[in-house]
Amino acid sequence: MKRRDFLSHSLLGISTMSTFSSFMNSMDDLTPSEQLMPALFIGHGSPMNAIEQNDYSHSWVELGKKLPRPKAILTISAHWLTRDTRVTAMARPKTIHDFGGFPKALFDAQYPAPGSPDFAALTKKIITKATIQDDYEWGLDHGTWSFLMPMYPQADIPVYQLSLDYYKPMQYHYELARELRALRKKGVMIIGSGNIVHNLRLLNFSGQTYDWATEFDQKIKTFLVDRNHHGIIQYDKLGNAAQMSVPTPDHYLPLI
Ligand code: ZN
Repeated sequence: MKRRDFLSHSLLGISTMSTFSSFMNSMDDLTPSEQLMPALFIGHGSPMNAIEQNDYSHSWVELGKKLPRPKAILTISAHWLTRDTRVTAMARPKTIHDFGGFPKALFDAQYPAPGSPDFAALTKKIITKATIQDDYEWGLDHGTWSFLMPMYPQADIPVYQLSLDYYKPMQYHYELARELRALRKKGVMIIGSGNIVHNLRLLNFSGQTYDWATEFDQKIKTFLVDRNHHGIIQYDKLGNAAQMSVPTPDHYLPLI
């Protein structure tokens, strides 16, 4: 059975809706007894997507309706970078407004989903690549709630986060992620949240897309569809397009 594990959007508006369609069609093939919770990569883009009606937020609404309902959601957000690896272990994670310069309506937004101390403990148990620390200070950053708000507006599915050790290489993150796969059999939906192309210095609001952004997005999409994991890990081999698209690895790492 074919099963697409990844779904991507890019910050700069490059369409990956064909990936979206094939993902949805293949999900329809799954009967309940065969269901393995999907793993997704979501390009969260602007925090305003949380409260705006646009193509991105509409696609997240559709995802929430069509995907199987998980017991819990584990997110790996570009906005939680640490010197070790931590898991949120609190029962009531707070909504973190980790941005500036946006309208009051965005700062007023709350996503009151419960946490999951039980799944946090299970996650610690299955990971051998790192010693995971319980965290009671973080919560849900906008890399998590910006898409969950449209996707699961009831906020009734437990959500917890795993941090990214920013000082470890790509291969390390890949191997750690392979261990996380076991959670999918336990009813956990794993969502990496970042962006394939993320260069805020060159952010272009005119609607036009840079050639290097299109090139990089398309190459990574091809790697995903072909399950060329090596190509995704070694993205820096893609030359100038990679350097422009990933000036720092924070938003690319959740894809790994
Ligand atoms: Zn971001």
